[in-house]
Amino acid sequence: MNVYDSERMTGLLRPLGYSPTANPDEADLVILNTCHIREKAAEKVYSELGRLTEVKARGGKIAVAGCVAQAEGKEIKARAPQVDLVFGPQSYHHLPELIAKSAREAGLALETDFAAVEKFDALAEGRQADGYAAFVTIQEGCDKFCTFCVVPYTRGAEVSRGTDAIAAEVRDLAAQGVVEITLLGQNVNAWRGAAPAGATQDSLGLGGLCRHLAQIDGIERIRFTTSHPADMDDELIAAFADEPKLMPYLHLPVQSGADRILKAMNRRHTADTYIRMIERIRQARPDIAISGDMIVGFPGEDEGAFEETLALVEAVEYASCFSFKYSRRPGTPGATLPKQVAEDIKAERLQRLQALLERQKQHFNAQQVGKILPVLFEKPGREAGQLVGRSPYLQAVFAPLPDHALGQIVPVRILSTRPNSLEAAALDVAA
Ligand code: SAH
Ligand code: SF4
Repeated sequence: MNVYDSERMTGLLRPLGYSPTANPDEADLVILNTCHIREKAAEKVYSELGRLTEVKARGGKIAVAGCVAQAEGKEIKARAPQVDLVFGPQSYHHLPELIAKSAREAGLALETDFAAVEKFDALAEGRQADGYAAFVTIQEGCDKFCTFCVVPYTRGAEVSRGTDAIAAEVRDLAAQGVVEITLLGQNVNAWRGAAPAGATQDSLGLGGLCRHLAQIDGIERIRFTTSHPADMDDELIAAFADEPKLMPYLHLPVQSGADRILKAMNRRHTADTYIRMIERIRQARPDIAISGDMIVGFPGEDEGAFEETLALVEAVEYASCFSFKYSRRPGTPGATLPKQVAEDIKAERLQRLQALLERQKQHFNAQQVGKILPVLFEKPGREAGQLVGRSPYLQAVFAPLPDHALGQIVPVRILSTRPNSLEAAALDVAA
């Protein structure tokens, strides 16, 4: 979502005469688009700020955007006086005014109000597609309040963007050559919207929205991220069964495999309901790949609880999974729980979990060898005469193909695996 937001900010600044530079030292304006999810990400902001000495020396401006801006507001100025602008994730569309304000007035230009709906459409306006795959924000915020997580505080309550506005943006992207869209939201499967004109039902969930967008000419692939297990409804599962444009890949974070820990995390599901949910989804779409997120070392997690997490991972068999050491975030209920886990134990558990997840990922990739997969080729590859694209399962696939295959979905035969990609051969057309 931050990548998407950064792209939209770039688009918004273009008409003002700004263009991106690879060298921050020569910039007139540096925007750090920040993440507050774990302490390490938030602290990185201050070390980056310390490095931006040239910008100020040359009279440039420094801005902090995103969730650290939202959470820390004007306190950022106290720790880093060189900062000129601070604005939260719901204020990006006001960037031109904020820059003007900062040029006009001394002191900090600050904006941390919530206005998600207004922002969705303001950012989409006049959007220029960049390539064949595009992100589209359809939802922001979260009402789940997992006890470890800052998102409900930094991104605000769950807000859904309107069906017609989403369809208009997707139509516009398709007209510019976009083939694949990824619908974005912190809690994307909580999306609800009005049914489009002529539909029999009154409202749509995410499954209905995917079917609606699948009818847009030129759109061949639809993905979405990130989902919460409690919001996986029947409509969405059914869409996996019978909407071929919905890609067979689902990111469904679980966080832990121990019910006691899931309860303390306020996750609203148990290990068993999660596993049964995955089984139902696999029944609907047998070739689906599952990815997830895991946290080790949440307060109260003992060796037994951690082993339950390993057992859940064994049961699910992830194609890919992110895993993190629990990070104590100020203001969240988890931060004040007793039985915080020592850092060295978290590190040791993370290593064991990641070894298992890596084996599962390599196993999943190896299963593709010999198969023919449809790949959307997006860019030139590492070598001449080669292109790289994405399989239905988000794997990077390299294949010898001519440039005119760019932007097309081409079936290729998977030959071998590399640590982070697959090698494929073009099919012999005559065969
Ligand atoms: N809405 C998404 C997740 C958003 S945050 C969801 O519920 O799945 C992305 C991931 O960061 C989470 O899934 C979680 O695994 C991790 N995360 C969030 N807060 C964390 C914390 N305090 N410490 C460690 N990992 C955290
Ligand atoms: Fe955070 Fe996701 Fe839980 Fe919301 S559902 S509080 S974003 S982890």
